[in-house]
Amino acid sequence: MLSSWPSEGLLQKGGLVFSSFRRMFSSDLAIDLGTANTVIYASGRGVVCSEPSVVAVESVEGGKRRVVAVGNEAKGMLGRTPEKIVALRPLRGGVIADFELTGELLRHLVAKTGQRGRFFRPRVVICVPHGVSEVERRAVRESAEAAGAGEVFLIEESMGAAIGAGLPVSEPSGSLLLDIGGGTSEVAIISLKGIVYSHTIRVGGDKMDEAIVNHVRRTHNILIGERTAEQIKIAVGSALPTGEELAIEVTGRDVVQGAPQTAVITEEEIREVLLEPLWQIVGMVRGALERIPPELASDVVERGVMVTGGGALLRRVDEFLAVHVQLPVTVAADPISVVAIGAGTVLDNLESLRDMAS
Ligand code: ADP
Ligand code: MG
Repeated sequence: MLSSWPSEGLLQKGGLVFSSFRRMFSSDLAIDLGTANTVIYASGRGVVCSEPSVVAVESVEGGKRRVVAVGNEAKGMLGRTPEKIVALRPLRGGVIADFELTGELLRHLVAKTGQRGRFFRPRVVICVPHGVSEVERRAVRESAEAAGAGEVFLIEESMGAAIGAGLPVSEPSGSLLLDIGGGTSEVAIISLKGIVYSHTIRVGGDKMDEAIVNHVRRTHNILIGERTAEQIKIAVGSALPTGEELAIEVTGRDVVQGAPQTAVITEEEIREVLLEPLWQIVGMVRGALERIPPELASDVVERGVMVTGGGALLRRVDEFLAVHVQLPVTVAADPISVVAIGAGTVLDNLESLRDMAS
């Protein structure tokens, strides 16, 4: 008897050929679309992009905007553009403050990774913070689709962080995560692939930078931009004394005369400035510990806190947190990429993806 065409075997074979073609031409992607940095992981390749979530646009006729740079190049322009060009952080204030530019950011960064998505649209996993609204989820999804994604899956950022940090997320045992990002910090307790508790505050690296700008203006009478403030934080910032008495020379505009003025900024003064945002982060973690279900509390006490996000790179922040939350604290290896790496692990394991994504 003639079998109906196409036979099942052929279909399967065709499917196999198609999927290997697909892999040759475009790998699937996991994206951590952060307020400060966007990190992209490509299946089979690892992290292929880690650039600031910054877009520089030029206003053109008709009130339209034209993208002139994204990522590292655009960040270099923050605060030093001519009138017609502005460097913006489209995710700065909330999840997506500027929908259109977030789409542009994604499209340009994905294109930079060498994706040939024209024929084979990649499957994309994107991390979103816990508790984002349906509208925001749709905005993220649509940005990814506009950037060339085929199928889009959203997973919780803290789940990505937990998997990337190697925590036992599928076990019925509690893990406590603290992410210190640019625009926000988030604490989450995870057990059995689910988020048991989570809380976010709008305090992170940006607030630290703002506090440095204010301090330098008040005590040194010098105006500096946030970009310089961030450089100061990274160069000499610490949560506890480093023992090296770090210092950095900074040039800005004199508040009174307006002329360029230079001052030496020490780690000690910056530590003082960073105390306020750090205390708010400590308060958030303590709040989580008070609300933790008793059965999970013992796991958390034993395992301690896993810290991710760029803020985890602040000198001695782990020891500072350990003292003030009274738990062991571990900084994830590669805290800026860990969410994308975890999401990439999910991407490479479709079964768990169907379980966890939506
Ligand atoms: P997001 O997920 O919001 O994009 P990230 O996890 O990428 O944020 O972290 C970015 C933040 O980490 C920025 O505010 C940046 O200034 C800060 N950061 C990066 N490196 C350091 C460092 N060495 N010390 C202190 N803060 C740092
Ligand atoms: Mg983040």
